[in-house]
Amino acid sequence: EIRITNVSKSFGPLKVLDAVSLALRPGSVTAIIGQSGSGKSTLLRAINHLERVDAGFIAIDGDLIGYRQDGDTLYELKEKDILARRVDVGMVFQSFNLFPHLTVIENIVEAPVTVRGLPRAQAVAEARELLARVGLADKADAYPRQLSGGQQQRVAIARALALRPKVLLFDEPTSALDPELVGEVLDVIKELSLSGTTLVIVTHEIGFAREVADQVVFMEDGRILEQGPPSRVLTAPDHPRTREFLAKVL
Ligand code: ATP
Ligand code: MG
Repeated sequence: EIRITNVSKSFGPLKVLDAVSLALRPGSVTAIIGQSGSGKSTLLRAINHLERVDAGFIAIDGDLIGYRQDGDTLYELKEKDILARRVDVGMVFQSFNLFPHLTVIENIVEAPVTVRGLPRAQAVAEARELLARVGLADKADAYPRQLSGGQQQRVAIARALALRPKVLLFDEPTSALDPELVGEVLDVIKELSLSGTTLVIVTHEIGFAREVADQVVFMEDGRILEQGPPSRVLTAPDHPRTREFLAKVL
């Protein structure tokens, strides 16, 4: 389980996260929606410890992100230990971020070999299974530039899964794609949601959120204004700001 408790973060005078609390049950799918600048990416980056928070805690299965607890004292983890723990949290970005000079299979195999210490042959076998899962078994030896955006994003998802994360974070995974390529990526994410992976997805695809999410979180100005099942938050929101936002994006 992932627990985000009273997390705050400022950039200079700008409070980007303001006492955010959220729980992610194992196997659940959480969709985060909200206007540009509301703090959605910063929250994801905090879960991955790409962003250090100023106050509050994030814990994965009881382990605090970025800290080691000894009695009542917290010690900030060293970079090496932060990297080791980041294996639990996979991230898929808007812009794919594949290594351009590596083939598809090499992109996927890289981290399991260097970070998880898997023997190369086993990593390759697992990578082939993951590629089949995202529908790209025939693209193992292609380079990223030879793939469509949707295919690149599916490789990025396979690459994130190769580290067997406890949670997979998606930051607007389809917003850089041509409209006709959005569906194939959403289908892969939907398949993952059915397989029991814990997912957090920042998205403007409200229909998709309605279909796959267990909980929808609406953020504004660094705060969670509303959270709950999609049937309520997306259909009959309590908060007038949620209603206004939905009226704009739907
Ligand atoms: P979008 O929908 O446009 O991706 P978002 O909800 O993901 O927006 P964030 O990227 O979390 O928003 O940014 C929240 C606020 O924090 C914005 O005002 C942004 O300009 C600011 N911000 C984010 N990162 C930094 C940084 N490294 N330094 C200064 N300000 C930052
Ligand atoms: Mg963002």
